[in-house]
Amino acid sequence: MRQDRLCIALQKSGRLAEESLALLKACGLHIARGKDQLLVRVREIPLDVLFVRDDDIPAFVSRGVCGLGIVGENVFQERRLEDSSGFHATILQRLGFSACRLALAAPEEGPITTPETLAGKTVATTYPHLLGAFLRERHLDATVLTMNGSVEVAPRLKIADAICDLVASGATLAANGLREITTVLNSEALLIRPDIPLSPAHESVITRLLTRIKGTLQAEDSKYIMLHAPRDHLAAITALLPGCESPTVLPLQGSPDKVAVHAVCRETVFWETMEQLKAAGASSILILPIEKMMG
Ligand code: ATP
Ligand code: ZN
Repeated sequence: MRQDRLCIALQKSGRLAEESLALLKACGLHIARGKDQLLVRVREIPLDVLFVRDDDIPAFVSRGVCGLGIVGENVFQERRLEDSSGFHATILQRLGFSACRLALAAPEEGPITTPETLAGKTVATTYPHLLGAFLRERHLDATVLTMNGSVEVAPRLKIADAICDLVASGATLAANGLREITTVLNSEALLIRPDIPLSPAHESVITRLLTRIKGTLQAEDSKYIMLHAPRDHLAAITALLPGCESPTVLPLQGSPDKVAVHAVCRETVFWETMEQLKAAGASSILILPIEKMMG
């Protein structure tokens, strides 16, 4: 890491790449990346972005080459189990995107229907350490076959009886005649950092970026709601607002019986909620997105 600038490792291209960049952009950072450019300097704060394969991100952070990284929990946990004593990265913030799960699956018509029926069988995976830990915890005696990819074809090729692979919608499993048996790990994108303190300059960049990231994530889930309410229905109406603390109540010019209610809702506002608000006497209901939040 260069003396004054902090480095964040992101996936170069793939299922994490776009949303990782979108998150940093939502934090007000401009990342102008030329084709094949591996290191990009951010103008707004002393931060450099390093673009690498997702599998390398935990090691870059663990070794302190990068002070931050964004990686799937599946890759993070696999690397942590692989090198438990030499692994020095930790989770700073769950990011919510790139959600998927590491799951066990077996041929639809076959005899494997539960984890217990895996005894004596062979399971193909690119996550041997996560699968190994899962089998050990349940005292299941199965053989782990490590592959580098295309795990879903292993049962058809008769080199394994079942697989342990990433699933999002389940479409790949269905296309290969496989059914899901159980979940080994639920995964989402993580912001990770080294587990030791860094220099004060680097720590301050991390704190600044983390505050912006938290603000962005909070804003994504929140809405600003404005409505008109009859004074005598105010309590019933504010009780319906999802995840709102102390709404602002304002007088309405020329309508002494009505007030305007403004509030930040920290949960999704569904159409059903709006219908209930209207039924309770609210009118002129407006739901607005919130771009940023702090404090
Ligand atoms: P790289 O070239 O960086 O090694 P990759 O091919 O290993 O990329 P991707 O397929 O881009 O990885 O997936 C990156 C991460 O995105 C996964 O490790 C996982 O955390 C997450 N992910 C989200 N949805 C899915 C999905 N449907 N299938 C696989 N991974 C997914
Ligand atoms: Zn990868």
